[in-house]
Amino acid sequence: MPLNEFDIIKNYFTDIGPSGSGVLIGIGDDCALLQLDPSQQLVVSVDNLLIDRHFDANVPVADLAFKAVSVSVSDIASMGAKPRWVTLSLSLPKADKQWLSEFSRGLTEALDYYDIALVGGNITQGPINIATQLLGSVEPGKAIRRDRAQAGDLIFVTGYLGEAAFGLRLHQNALDLPGLSDDDKARLLAAWYKPRACPDLGQRLVDVANACIDISDGLVSDLQHILSASNVGARLQLSDIPMHPSLHAALQHDPEQLQRAFELSVTGGEDYQLCFTAAAANKDAVQAISEFTGIPIRCIGMVEEQRGMRVFYENALLNLNNEGYRHF
Ligand code: ADP
Ligand code: MG
Repeated sequence: MPLNEFDIIKNYFTDIGPSGSGVLIGIGDDCALLQLDPSQQLVVSVDNLLIDRHFDANVPVADLAFKAVSVSVSDIASMGAKPRWVTLSLSLPKADKQWLSEFSRGLTEALDYYDIALVGGNITQGPINIATQLLGSVEPGKAIRRDRAQAGDLIFVTGYLGEAAFGLRLHQNALDLPGLSDDDKARLLAAWYKPRACPDLGQRLVDVANACIDISDGLVSDLQHILSASNVGARLQLSDIPMHPSLHAALQHDPEQLQRAFELSVTGGEDYQLCFTAAAANKDAVQAISEFTGIPIRCIGMVEEQRGMRVFYENALLNLNNEGYRHF
């Protein structure tokens, strides 16, 4: 029996993941009805993943569902807010049971992982397009914005950069790196297929960071948004960019390849790590957050009054022409 729209909602999207706090009405009515704590502000973000633009038919479907949630959680994380509720608008060419059950499995895993509730959505027929809208909450005045970086701030990034960019190239069979082990390849592919945002870390940056952004289009491009919004500039050391030790080991015998890898790690997108600036006086607080969360945080440069971004590698000023992913 073919599935209709209501069967799909009932079988694959109802009663999955946490039921969530503050959900007065979830899936089933015209709107979700959510109770926000009176002392909190609402933080909202929407993103979509479109077939043949953001992914292709060879990407594991469960991972795709997980990623759709992660990319939205990442935005909420960058504001220092707590992700709470999500809606999902799904466009599908046909009601394929296997696809839907894999998608539902990955979605459930993400809802559990981030402890968020799926409170509504929509289904329509068309090329695969997955839109996730994330709603989160933050204490009034505490959201971390892009436009508050100060000259003299240190610039930090979480995790390792470039993993997803290498993963994408592996997926496309466009990476020729003989030194990579099977474990490395699996890790790089997973970084692109199934990124994990770090909202707990983001919430701990409230009162510590001055400005923050999540890295979706590449560090150079995303950090520039902070700098422009804050009317400041920056200096970066490319060799300080955190590269996974195993990737570094596979590249270090070839200095040219290593430099290109560092360049890719600041221009390639979809890391979903956080880039933030903080006063030098907060350096120990940043270190404590890294230890508490178990996520490496590395200082990669400094905010300066002089506008523009100056990226150095072994004392030479680089001219990075790729400024990250642009849709138009
Ligand atoms: P309406 O026609 O009022 O928009 P729908 O028939 O589209 O309602 O959806 C019925 C209910 O199922 C609504 O509560 C809606 O939020 C929910 N819903 C629809 N699609 C999804 C989905 N993909 N995931 C979660 N909930 C969904
Ligand atoms: Mg609808």
